[in-house]
Amino acid sequence: MPSTDQASHAGLRLLAVHAHPDDESSKGAAASAAYVARGARVCVVSCTGGERGDVLNERLKDDPHILRDIAQVRRDEMAAAAAVLGIEHVWLGFMDSGLPEGDPLPPLPEGCFALEPISVTTEALVRVIRSFRPHVMTTYDELGGYPHPDHIMTHTVSMSAFLAAGDPTAYPHAGPAWQPLKLYYNQTHSGGRIRAFHDAMVAEGIESPYTEWVAAIDKRPVRTITTRVPCSEHFPTRDAALMAHATQVDPDGWWFRMPRELEARVWPTEDFEAALSYVPVHAIEDDLFAGLPDAAAADALATSAHLTVAYDGRAHAGSTQEAS
Ligand SMILES: [Zn+2]
Repeated sequence: MPSTDQASHAGLRLLAVHAHPDDESSKGAAASAAYVARGARVCVVSCTGGERGDVLNERLKDDPHILRDIAQVRRDEMAAAAAVLGIEHVWLGFMDSGLPEGDPLPPLPEGCFALEPISVTTEALVRVIRSFRPHVMTTYDELGGYPHPDHIMTHTVSMSAFLAAGDPTAYPHAGPAWQPLKLYYNQTHSGGRIRAFHDAMVAEGIESPYTEWVAAIDKRPVRTITTRVPCSEHFPTRDAALMAHATQVDPDGWWFRMPRELEARVWPTEDFEAALSYVPVHAIEDDLFAGLPDAAAADALATSAHLTVAYDGRAHAGSTQEAS
């Protein structure tokens, strides 16, 4: 177990890049709360405002206030969730691309995040990185973790900005160079965890909402989990943050079917996959900041001109390796 004393991570900074408001509360939220409790600063970037999200909570579906201005409602929900998690928050300012549905798929809406030139979105994120100066960043894997165009673009922009932020010749008007030292993909909803949840619920005689997911696990590429952050004591905070996104979360939905004491017993961590690191990664880590010296030394490292990649876990393009 990592040190959980209040100052163990004082001065360290984590930047979590997400696509929509609510993603920060469903992926890595308990780990975020754990780092805040240990004295780190955690900043969430929402690339879009979630303007094209549907109201998923049956009880709020016909609420006229919500229907009139969903964008403002989602800003208010995000502020409430950030307060619950104790995190800082930045809007990157791009427009939700929506989840295209139908066959054939309709074109993406003009001006949306997924259609913005990559140089424009990268510069916006580089500006946030150089201002907040994170030692560690998290984002989604190359599949987005979920096939939404904004999630896949969030991955693309995060990779591009991570590599550009430390290069003083790249986007020179976006602030002084700062190289985050480690980059991870969120793997909170890994196949292993879903299967463990399903099996535990079946063993307890509880109806599992995961049957279809479990059947589809073998079709998903195998991920390399490198890091498991113990954070079960912060699961209630995660749940409260998620509930703050009231329009997006059905309180009677599958998310809350898993009894929380069973969840804490079966899977007490939130998990990550190291993608790029300038310090060695020795899996399985229990801390996203593993291998970094104290904050002052990490600061010096992040502005050093002599960094070399020590770990490269980026998936090779076109990899379709499947579980057997
Ligand atoms: Zn999302």
